[in-house]
Amino acid sequence: MGNSYLEVVDRAAIERRVSELGQAIAADHEGLNPVLVGVLKGCVPFLADLTRQIDIPHEVDFLLLTRFGERGRVSVAMDTAISLEGRHVILVEDIVDTGLTLSALLRSLSVRAVAGVKTVALLDKVPRRIVDVPVDYRGFEIGDEFLLGYGLDWGGRYRNLPSLWAVMDMEQLTDLDATFPTAAFGNGAG
Ligand code: 5GP
Repeated sequence: MGNSYLEVVDRAAIERRVSELGQAIAADHEGLNPVLVGVLKGCVPFLADLTRQIDIPHEVDFLLLTRFGERGRVSVAMDTAISLEGRHVILVEDIVDTGLTLSALLRSLSVRAVAGVKTVALLDKVPRRIVDVPVDYRGFEIGDEFLLGYGLDWGGRYRNLPSLWAVMDMEQLTDLDATFPTAAFGNGAG
């Protein structure tokens, strides 16, 4: 694998933590029929695992954002299929970095007469936060390294890595012909 990539959270640790998050969400939303709203596309592996750990009735939907500008301005490119009015919404994000995306999203939900909003993020890059946003359920706190895998991409690639990897040498990524070590897609080294 060389020294360019380092596995920071392995599959077993992700599975354990996602199960704990699912149980906490279920305990807090008994009888509320909440809707998990995944923020595409990075949420997909996380949401797929999370929904199966929430053992109360709930629905799943998605929205897609477009980002423009440096300050994390976002608009909704594809909205949820179901109406969120009167619903207990649980926003599902892969990672909260500066917090700008999530805060914009919360602002846009605040005018929709939802019954409540909670946020869940698999990863929370605490040292990079610019705006204070509530992360109600958090998988792992991480530093400011650039991560890939389990939904996180570089130019659309590597979302399919089953675990989370930190990129130690960003130049490796800018070389489009470079391939991620194939072992990272398999069962791993252990
Ligand atoms: P924020 O608005 O909180 O700064 O940005 C969140 C978005 O930035 C995430 O949804 C994700 O798309 C991207 N992002 C932030 N940190 C990382 C990272 O370490 N790796 C990858 N692949 N994307 C990241």
